[in-house]
Formats: sequence, structure tokens, C-alpha cells
Amino acid sequence: MSHLFQNYGKRRVPIVSGKGTIVTDDKGKNYLDFTSGIAVVSLGHAHPELVKTLQEQSEKLWHISNLFDIPAQEQLAEALVDQTPFDHAFFCNSGAEANEAAIKLARKHTGKHTIITFEQSFHGRTFGAMSATGQEKVRQGFGPLLETFRTIPYNDLAQLEAAIDDDVAAIMLEVIQGEGGVNAIDSAFAQAITDVCKAKDILLIVDEVQTGIGRTGTCYAFEQTPLQPDIVTLAKGLGGGFPIGAMLGKAALFPSFGAGTHGTTFGGNPLAVSVAKTVVDIVCQPSFLKEVNDKSAYLIKKLTEALPNDHYSIRGKGLLLGIHCEQEVAPFIQQAEQEGLLLVQAGTNVIRLLPPLTVSKDEIDQAVAVISTVLLGEKAII
Ligand SMILES: *Cc1c(COP(=O)(O)O)cnc(C)c1O
Repeated sequence: MSHLFQNYGKRRVPIVSGKGTIVTDDKGKNYLDFTSGIAVVSLGHAHPELVKTLQEQSEKLWHISNLFDIPAQEQLAEALVDQTPFDHAFFCNSGAEANEAAIKLARKHTGKHTIITFEQSFHGRTFGAMSATGQEKVRQGFGPLLETFRTIPYNDLAQLEAAIDDDVAAIMLEVIQGEGGVNAIDSAFAQAITDVCKAKDILLIVDEVQTGIGRTGTCYAFEQTPLQPDIVTLAKGLGGGFPIGAMLGKAALFPSFGAGTHGTTFGGNPLAVSVAKTVVDIVCQPSFLKEVNDKSAYLIKKLTEALPNDHYSIRGKGLLLGIHCEQEVAPFIQQAEQEGLLLVQAGTNVIRLLPPLTVSKDEIDQAVAVISTVLLGEKAII
């Protein structure tokens, strides 16, 4: 009998090592990892620069507490807010914690309570983040939830207008709903959100836990939309596999998170921030992001050629892509694993593709060949 709670359900094959896009199981079989630990291992497994940073920092200082000045936090904050509308960062350990900080900051800063969120959204599993999450399966059995979250349909202008009143502190959304099925925000809806936030003094919180740090082909996904966030939350790809979360905010919010308002023991730990700084320095370079976009275009082209478009549609941006299928995808994901390709689903009908941002075109070819084998029962011509 396992001594673990079975909250993750049946686990997949035990992976014991990885290098770049390739991971190896306990029997020595190799797989192409098109999950990246769910958009986390953005530079692939065991990236030499990250290994070096972690090794060097581990010999200097692991942990000291936020009672002390941590210069590497300042450097990471500077790199993250560079060329953005944001001025300040708060570091924590996960996506849910980053969202928790954002919800607290929005309430404290505005003195208002209601947070508007969207159906099919995912913001994490803590009470605040879960209450913000628009998926019944995540919330079921844990009530009563935190009050004053108002969940409305995504990309629905009329419902947005109807949901606004004088108690709305913030609107919280994902640019592309990752867990909820790879659904992107409409440009007109994004513009309407920006307009209503300005008109009614409502804060905009963009949850970039999955989309941030190069995943969609820009450092932040909101850059490709008319959204003008006051707060952005980050986690997954930020540490390249080392746990870290972050909340970025505009200067006006600074006084509302003064001394003693919020904190965490581990957040911004020297190991985490030095690894994340290396990730950001590599990923948020124009030349690196251009390659992400080239590979994205290549992957979309290959998938479109391989899969009949009356049964499959490709959605998403950059290297956060979804293949929307008519049938449930769980069996195909299992089959792909046997064929040496690791995939993850989003909702029941979407195969999510999240390769490391460093994936090669050759690896993309191999992955598309497996995908078309399992979906169509035949090899793609590549
Ligand atoms: C994964 C995810 C979270 C939760 O992050 P954790 O680190 O698991 O707490 C929050 N928001 C989005 C958009 C996510 O994809």
C-alpha cells in the first residue's frame, strides 16, 4: 500500500532523469517530454546554465529569511519589471501563492471586495485561488468558499457588463486558459476589460502562471493583447523547475503592501531567485523569443498538415498549444506515452502541447509523427 495520499490519482511512468527534451524512465526507456512538467521546465531538463547557477549558489547560501536583504531578489525583480508597466515584485513559492498575494493586495488597495473571474479558469488550490477558479471539479466538497468571487463566462461582453458594480476590486483572468482547455481571450473582450477597469477604477490581475516567461512567444502573454494589467502573477516557467512564484505590480500599489502586511518564510529564497534570474536572462531575450515563435509556427504547420481540420483544431500561442479533438483524449495520451511521447490533457477533449522552449525542429517532427500515429492510426509523412 502506498504511504502517499492518492490525490493525484493513478500516476504515470516513473521518470528518473532528463536532459533537454528527453526524459528517461526507471527501465531506461526514453521519451520526448512535451509536458515540461506542465509548462515548468522551460529550458529543458538539466540546462547547463541552470545547473551551474544552482551549484554555485548552493555552495554560497541556501536560505537566510526575508528578515535580511537578499540582493539576488532585487536583481530578479529588476529583470522582471524591465520594459513592463510594473515597478515592484513580491516573491513566493507557487502559482497559488502568487494569486493569493494578488487577491489580498487588490482588496487591501481598493477597499472593495468582489473579484470577477471566469468559467473554466484555473488559479490554484489554496482557498483564495480555489474560490477564484471557475471549475466546479476543483471546488467540490471544500465549501464554504471565500466570499465575493463572481464567476462569469469567458469572452462574453454582455455578462461582463452585467457583473460590474461598485464593489468590484479586481478582474482576474488568464490570457490563455491553460488547464481549462487552451482557450485564448478575444481581442475585443480584452479591450472591453481594459476599458471597464479604467472607467470604474478596477484593478486588472493577469494570471500568467502558465503563460508567462516566454511560453507564448513573448516574455508575458498580455503583451500580445490590449490588456493593461495592474498586477501579473508568475510561477511555473519562472524557475525552470525550481519552485518559485512572483507577483508584479505597478507603483501605485506599493503603499498597500507595506511592512508587515504580507510575507512568506521561503519566498525569494536565494537558490530560487538566482535560478529564476538565469531563466529570465535567457528566455526574455528577443532572439530567444523569436526562436520560440519560429518553432511554434513550425509545430502548428506540421500539426495542421498531419491532422484533418474537420476533426481537429489547433489553438493557443507560442509553445502552449492545444489540439481540440471530438473524442476524449485520455486514451491517446496513454498510447503516445507507449510510443515515447509524453503529453498532458487540458479538460477532457484537448491534448495540450507544452514542450520545453528549447525543443528542436527534429524533436517536433518526431512528436508530430507519434501524435498522428495515435490519433489517426497511421504515420505522418514528414
Ligand atoms: C498551475 C496554475 C496555477 C497554480 O499554480 P501552483 O504552482 O500549482 O499553485 C495558477 N494559475 C494558473 C494559470 C496555472 O496554470
